[in-house]
Amino acid sequence: MKYVSTGGQTPPTSFRIAVFAGLAPDGGLYIPESIPALPHGFISELSTQSLQTIGAEVASAFIDDISRSDLATLSARAWTFPVPLIHLKDNLYVLELFHGPTLAFKDIGVRFLARILSYYLQASHQEITIAVATSGDTGSAVAHGFFNVPHITVYVLYPSGKISPLQEQQMATLGGNIHALEVDGTFDDCQRLVKQALADGEVVGARHLTTANSISLGRLLPQIGYYVWGVAQWEAAYRSRSMEERPTFVVPSGNFGNLTAAVYAMAMGTPFGHLVAATNVNDAGAQYLRTGSFVPRAAVQTHSNAMDVGNPSNLVRLRSHFRDDVSEIRRQIEAVSISDEETLDEIRLTYEHCGKIVDPHTAVGLAAARKRSVNEPTIVTATAHPGKFPEVIERALGMRIALPAQLREALERHKQSEEIPAEYEAFRQVLLKSSTRV
Ligand SMILES: *Cc1c(COP(=O)(O)O)cnc(C)c1O
Repeated sequence: MKYVSTGGQTPPTSFRIAVFAGLAPDGGLYIPESIPALPHGFISELSTQSLQTIGAEVASAFIDDISRSDLATLSARAWTFPVPLIHLKDNLYVLELFHGPTLAFKDIGVRFLARILSYYLQASHQEITIAVATSGDTGSAVAHGFFNVPHITVYVLYPSGKISPLQEQQMATLGGNIHALEVDGTFDDCQRLVKQALADGEVVGARHLTTANSISLGRLLPQIGYYVWGVAQWEAAYRSRSMEERPTFVVPSGNFGNLTAAVYAMAMGTPFGHLVAATNVNDAGAQYLRTGSFVPRAAVQTHSNAMDVGNPSNLVRLRSHFRDDVSEIRRQIEAVSISDEETLDEIRLTYEHCGKIVDPHTAVGLAAARKRSVNEPTIVTATAHPGKFPEVIERALGMRIALPAQLREALERHKQSEEIPAEYEAFRQVLLKSSTRV
C-alpha cells in the first residue's frame, strides 16, 4: 500500500515515510492510494472476532512492511482497555471509546501512533523528538500515549493559565520522556513555536524533530478498527433474525478525523447502514457535507469544546475520497448540527430515560440521532467520559458528578513543567541544550 497527498504533488510514498513526516511535502494530508477491502471470510465471521484481531487485520491491510504477528503485538499494546458497545434503549447503542488513560477517544489513535513509531525506531536504532502544541486535550493524550515509549522524547507546549488545572495536571506531571513546557503566551504562540522549530534545519537535524498532530496517518488508521469492532459486537449480541439489517453510526465531529475513519471502514466493506456526522453550531464542515460548498469560519465556543472547529483539518481527506461529488457524499453521510441548548436537553433526557450520564460531545451525537427519528439500529460513538466535564453536567442535571479515579490521581501528582517565554529562541535553547545530553 502506498500513500499519496491530497495536494497531488507528492509521489507515492511508503507508510513508514508518511507516518514520520506527518504532513506531506506539498502541504497536503497523506491518504491511502486506494482503500483495501477486508477479506470476505473475515466480514462474514465478524461477530466472532476480538478487538485485537480486528486491529491487526485492519492495520495489516494498510501497513505492508510490518509482519501481521508484529502488528498484532502492537495492537495489543495500544488497546489495553475495553471499547464496549452499550445498549441504551430500543434500537440505540453507544460505543464507548473513552476508557483509555485520559478518558477520551484520542487515546486510541495516539497510543497506536506511539507504538508504530517506536517499532520502526527500534529496528533502525534511531531516536526522535516530538513537539506538540496543545490547548488542552490533545496534549494529555499525547503525553500519556508516548509516556515511557522507547526511543521517543516528547515536548508538549501549552499556554500558561489558559488550560484547566486538570488538563495541566494530566500532561505536566508525568516526567520521564515527557517534557511539559508552560509557555507565557497563547495557544497560537505555542503553535508558532512548534512550527518554527519544525522549519529550523539545525534543530530538526540535531533532534530528529517531528510532530504528532491529529492529521497523522498513524492516528487515523487505528480508528478504523473500532468501527469494525462496534459492528462485530452489535452482530454478536443484538442482531435480530434479519441478516440484512445494518447499524448506522453517528459520529460527534470536529476535525472530522473520526468521521474519515468511519468512511474508510465503510469503504473496506464493514457492514454499516449510513453515517451521520453530528456537529455543534460550528457547522462549516456539516454545511459542506450537505451542500458541497465550504466556507471556513472562526470557531465559537460551545459546551462540546473539543468540536469547536471552524475549518476541519480532515475535510480534505473526505473531499478527496468522494472526489468532491456531493451527491455521493449525501448517499452515505447525513450531517446534523446541534445547539448548546439541545446538548443540555439531551444530557437530561438520556439520564431520565436511560439512567446514563453522557458527556456533552456524546450528547451531540445522541441529539443528532434523536433529531433524525429513524427507527434503525443506531450506534453513537461516545468520545469522552462525562467526568471530564463536571460543569456542563451540573448545568444539565443539577448535580455534581464524581471525578473518575484517573483524574483524581492526576490532581495529586507533582507538577514538573518548565516555564518559557513565548519566544522561539527560548524553545530552541531548550531543544538544543537537551540534545547534547542524549
Ligand atoms: C477530538 C474530539 C472530538 C472530535 O473528533 P474529530 O476527529 O476531530 O472530529 C469529539 N469528541 C471529543 C471528546 C474529542 O476529544
